[in-house]
Amino acid sequence: MLATLGVVTSLTLGAALTGSPSQAQAAPEQTLVSRATTKAFAVTSAVVFNRNAASITDPRSPWVVVNKKRPLNPPQLRASARIRTDQLRVAPVAAVGASKAATKMLATYQAETGRRMQSQSAYRSYATQVSVYNASVRIRGVAATDKIIARPGTSEHQTGWAIDVSALPSNCSLSTCFANTHQGKWLSANAWRFGFLLRYPANKVAVTGYSFEPWHYRFVGPYLTTEMRRTGFTTLEEFFRLPAAPSY
Ligand SMILES: [Zn+2]
Repeated sequence: MLATLGVVTSLTLGAALTGSPSQAQAAPEQTLVSRATTKAFAVTSAVVFNRNAASITDPRSPWVVVNKKRPLNPPQLRASARIRTDQLRVAPVAAVGASKAATKMLATYQAETGRRMQSQSAYRSYATQVSVYNASVRIRGVAATDKIIARPGTSEHQTGWAIDVSALPSNCSLSTCFANTHQGKWLSANAWRFGFLLRYPANKVAVTGYSFEPWHYRFVGPYLTTEMRRTGFTTLEEFFRLPAAPSY
């Protein structure tokens, strides 16, 4: 267990909820979500999903949609502005918190399989994204880089809601072959339980603007991942009826 903690303490996803549910506005689904856990989250037919329960433009919202057509505002989201989920109307769900959800996901994987995985990269500052992007441009050029790394000001990693996961010990890190690893397969099948979405699916490059990234998971909360599973949507752009973002 200590070893596990050693792995996950490097997580720098959005901060966990610090406010109380009473700060949130009452919403019809409040009763449902207050029973939510990362392990078991059931949606009954009596509950209508509320698409307006969280903002898709506010970077503090776990539903924020950031892509090549939807840059962050401001682009240089400061670390101190990192996620406070206590202002969300879906507070009982957000109470899980992205960091807690990621920690729980990694720990559950180890508990269920006896294997391990780790956070390769999570929150990045604007300056870090500049470094990552420019380093890739020097190696690959702009066109190839734009398929795999977001330009500064348009990265989900800057919001604190995204995490790149890798196997431990490392195997196919940040490579498409991660999809075929035990860890990659497990994430693909189970990440939704913890509120994480495979953000860049292989068959949605024209929608997301990014190559298949089986390691990149985006926290949107189990309320939304459950609804996306139920309705069959696999990208935020399509679910929220937004334009595709194949290019800048
Ligand atoms: Zn990533």
